[in-house]
Amino acid sequence: VVDIALMGGVDSPLLQMIGVLGVTIVFYFPDHWQSVAVTPLVVAGLTALQIAVGTPIEDPLNVIVALLVALILPVSSVAMVSIEINNRLRSVIDPLTGCLNRNAFRDRIEVLEAQMAVTGEPIGVVILDIDHFKRVNDQHGHAAGDAVLTEVAYQLRKALRSYETVCRLGGEEFVILLPGASAAVAAEIAEQVRLIIEGTVVEGIKVTISCGAASAGGDDVSIRSVLADADLALYEAKAGGRNQTRIHTPDTESRSPSGR
Ligand code: GH3
Ligand code: MG
Ligand code: MG
Repeated sequence: VVDIALMGGVDSPLLQMIGVLGVTIVFYFPDHWQSVAVTPLVVAGLTALQIAVGTPIEDPLNVIVALLVALILPVSSVAMVSIEINNRLRSVIDPLTGCLNRNAFRDRIEVLEAQMAVTGEPIGVVILDIDHFKRVNDQHGHAAGDAVLTEVAYQLRKALRSYETVCRLGGEEFVILLPGASAAVAAEIAEQVRLIIEGTVVEGIKVTISCGAASAGGDDVSIRSVLADADLALYEAKAGGRNQTRIHTPDTESRSPSGR
């Protein structure tokens, strides 16, 4: 701005460059839409100053072009920044349920494994799957199925703590990661969730879920193997008649939380 003032006021060719400054300002203050107005105001201010001082403006067209550039560059970069944020959200969040998607889940597992290696804490896992969901779609339509998915995800999120990750693995299958939870605690949480869903009616449709719980601890644990254990327990819950929770422990067959 000082350069422009020194190099012949608003007739300086440098005036056209001020839009670049505007882009920088917008990147530093992305939450303040007002930041797009800074550089146009500077151009207007310089013009007003020059008129006030009495120096003639050689080419008013220069000023008009500079004003447009100073406005258009920041505005278009705001648009690009918001598209970028949107894309980033879409790469981690499942749009229907708001849960983490598979991509984000993979990243989360890596972080948790690194944490476990340091703390030696166990990790509890619950995999849950909506019962006879195909029937919901067939009898009530795909939109009703979507409403059921959204409601189940909402109830999960509401029942769990903020540090307990909920992820939609795909279709009507979800996984919950419970840092610090033993298999028994994971199964307890799964039962709480199962009872909440059992008591929930969505658009007149009764919904139930089956859950498999597992846990592992120590500093050399792969969450993938715990997931496989929980998956086995889920399979047992389905085979056992659905709407129930099963635990998998490495030394025993899967069993119900009551120890049957
Ligand atoms: P089970 O009790 O053994 O789990 O039976 P199920 O019918 O729930 O399981 P199955 O795997 O046979 O059917 C899952 C259905 O979920 C099939 C698929 O059309 C439906 N589905 C998957 N993703 C979506 C979705 O995003 N929206 C809706 N509405 N349906 C979905
Ligand atoms: Mg199912
Ligand atoms: Mg399924």
